[in-house]
Amino acid sequence: MKKRRHTPSVRIGSIVMGSAHPIVVQSMTNTPTADVEKTVTQIKALADAGSELVRITVNDAKAMQAVPAIRASLDADGYPVPLIGDFHYNGHILLTEYPDSAACLAKFRVNPGNVGKGNRRDPQFEMIIKAAIQHKKAVRIGVNWGSLDPVIVAKAMDANQALPVPKSSTDVMIDAMLDSARQSEALALAIGLPQDQLVLSVKMSDVSAMVRVYEQLAKETDTALHLGLTEAGGQQKGSISSAIALGILLHQGIGDTIRMSLTPSPGASRAEEVRGCTTVLQAMGLRHFAPSVVSCPGCGRTQSDAFIRLAESIQNHIDQTIQTWQKQYPGVESLTVAVMGCVVNGPGESKHADIGISLPGISETPRAPVYMDGKQVTTLRGDGIQAEFIQLLERYIQDRFSKKLDCD
Ligand code: SF4
Repeated sequence: MKKRRHTPSVRIGSIVMGSAHPIVVQSMTNTPTADVEKTVTQIKALADAGSELVRITVNDAKAMQAVPAIRASLDADGYPVPLIGDFHYNGHILLTEYPDSAACLAKFRVNPGNVGKGNRRDPQFEMIIKAAIQHKKAVRIGVNWGSLDPVIVAKAMDANQALPVPKSSTDVMIDAMLDSARQSEALALAIGLPQDQLVLSVKMSDVSAMVRVYEQLAKETDTALHLGLTEAGGQQKGSISSAIALGILLHQGIGDTIRMSLTPSPGASRAEEVRGCTTVLQAMGLRHFAPSVVSCPGCGRTQSDAFIRLAESIQNHIDQTIQTWQKQYPGVESLTVAVMGCVVNGPGESKHADIGISLPGISETPRAPVYMDGKQVTTLRGDGIQAEFIQLLERYIQDRFSKKLDCD
C-alpha cells in the first residue's frame, strides 16, 4: 500500500480529516430533515454503526429551521457527531437567512452544478463560501456527473469536437468533472476560504471512470478528498462496486473520507452504508472498528452446518457486544477470531488468529480444538461448543484487553 497522499488537516466539528489523521467514515440520512424526531433517530443509528460525520439534506426553510433542534437533541443524548448540510439550488439563501442554523452545521456541501444558472452561478457560489468563512466551517465542493454544470460540459464537448481523434464520451465527462472541480476550488480559494477548510469530491457511478477521475484530481491538488462511487446501486452490487473503487484509490494513498452511496433494501437499515465503509477500511488494515471473524467457506468436508452457525453466532455476538467492549477493553477492535470447518486449514488459520476454533469435518473425530495466541489451549466436544467458545472468547478479551488500573 502506498503512503497517504499529503493533504492539510481539515477540522469538521470534533473530527479532523487529512493525511495526518485516520480516514473518516461518513454517511447521509434519508429522512425528511424537517422531521426532527425521525432524523435524530436515524443519525444516532448511523453514528452507532460507526459514522463519524453525518450529512443531512437541507432543501428548504423548514429543513434549515430544524437544524438547531436536531443538533440540540443529539447533544442532549450524548451524540456529538458533526452534521454536514447538503445544499442544492438555494444554499446561498438558506445560509444567509438562517445564520443560527448555519452555525449548528459543521460543514456545508455544495454541488457546483446546482449552485445557479448563467451569471447567477458565481455570485451565489460566493455567498455560500462567504457564509463558510464567516462561520468558520469547512466546505465540500462535491462535483457529481449526474448534475454537472451544462456550460462546462458543452465546453468540454466543443473542445473534443476540435480534436483530430475525438475522445470517448466517458473521457469527455472526466475532463468536464475535473474542470468543474478545478474552477470551483480556485474560486473558493480566491474568495478567501482557507485550503484547510476545503474538501473536494468528483463522484461518478462507473467504477473505472471514478477511479480515473480521482487519480487525476489527486495529481493536480493536495486539497483533502472525499471518495465515493455515486449512485452505486443496491446492497450487493452497490457495496461490491463501491468497495472495489474505494479499495483501488485507498491502496494508492488517495482519500481522506469515504461514503458508500447504497440504495437500501426496503425496510433495511440505513446503517448498511456505514458498515460497508468500516468493512473496507478494516479489510485493508487502515482502521479497526470491531474484531474480525475469519471463517472458511466450507466445502464437502464440512460436518453439517454447525460451523456456519458458529461463525454467524460469533459475528452476532461481536455486533451486539462491541460497544460495551470498546468502553471496557481498549484495543479490542484489532482482535481476530477464526472459525474453521475442518482440519485441512482449521488449525493453521486458528493459530494465525488471536483465538480460533477448528470444528471437526466429516469423518474426523468429533472434537474442536481451540487455539489462543498460536497455541492449543483446550478441546471442546458435544452440543455446548457454541456457548463454551463464546465464554472462552469473553475470557480471552477480558484477560488481554482489560484496562490496567493504577493502584499506586
Ligand atoms: S477448512 Fe476444511 S471445511 Fe473449510 S473450506 Fe477448507 S477444507 Fe473445507
